[in-house]
Amino acid sequence: MQNQSDNVQRFSRFYIDFHERLFNTHVKCMHLLSAAVPFQKFNKIDVSAKLLQHQPILKDNLFQDIDDGAFEQLFDLVFPVLREFAYWKKEELLRLQELNDRRRFSLKKFMIALIANDDKKFASFSKSYDITVKFLKIFTELVSAPFFELSAETFSERIEHTRWNEPTCPVCGSTPAFSEIDEQQEVRTLWCRRCNSTWQFSADKCPFCLTHDPKQKKLLFLSDGKPYRIEACDNCGHYLKTVNHSFLTNKIDFSVANIATYSLDILAKHLGYQLNDYLSFYFELSNHGEFS
Ligand SMILES: [Zn+2]
Ligand SMILES: [Zn+2]
Repeated sequence: MQNQSDNVQRFSRFYIDFHERLFNTHVKCMHLLSAAVPFQKFNKIDVSAKLLQHQPILKDNLFQDIDDGAFEQLFDLVFPVLREFAYWKKEELLRLQELNDRRRFSLKKFMIALIANDDKKFASFSKSYDITVKFLKIFTELVSAPFFELSAETFSERIEHTRWNEPTCPVCGSTPAFSEIDEQQEVRTLWCRRCNSTWQFSADKCPFCLTHDPKQKKLLFLSDGKPYRIEACDNCGHYLKTVNHSFLTNKIDFSVANIATYSLDILAKHLGYQLNDYLSFYFELSNHGEFS
């Protein structure tokens, strides 16, 4: 029991230290990127037309005007953090670093595949680099986050004025990682970890399998009276961490809440619900005997 609690504490320290370093690095990247990328061009994009086609805004849209060079600094700055913290992926990281050093790694291609949810493309990258699809996707997400976030900022106001009631992010197409529920208004706000966008979605539907059968929904609390909970779906086995709006006095910072509530992810995993790829990446550490 003692061992288990030591392991949880070590995991917690690792997970929080890593994200603290990552967030600080991402802020640095955002300063550099705003000078290198012509984000004002995104104002010309017809956001409503794109969303009416049920397509995320970034898909097929905006990479024509940006060359790979603009993204090189993302790799250069985020990479040392990954090398330090994702040490169990050392060999894969070395391969990517070597390609980047020779300027043979196109982050742009990976971002385009990620937004298009193009699994075939990722399978072909995986074959050429001898790196799993899962790791390549996580790597792309961690390195490109500052670009996704700055892009999302330019669209956020216009998204508020459109009708987008899809379960995936209107900007980058990712599935939600967190939600806020207003039980009085029966409104749910979903949050995208990849680009920090928020959007509204039905309060009673599972955003992963779209069932609205109330018998499939489980609400799990660590203890009563807490603002955070897990909303799990027995139909598809996914879960969504959720904050109850009535407990909030200020606007929630989802990025911070998502990391701070990792104990809910551990609980969901123990209960047999499916972790998303991002979280299962960290839990892979336990396969290396670190926190098991
Ligand atoms: Zn997104
Ligand atoms: Zn479901």
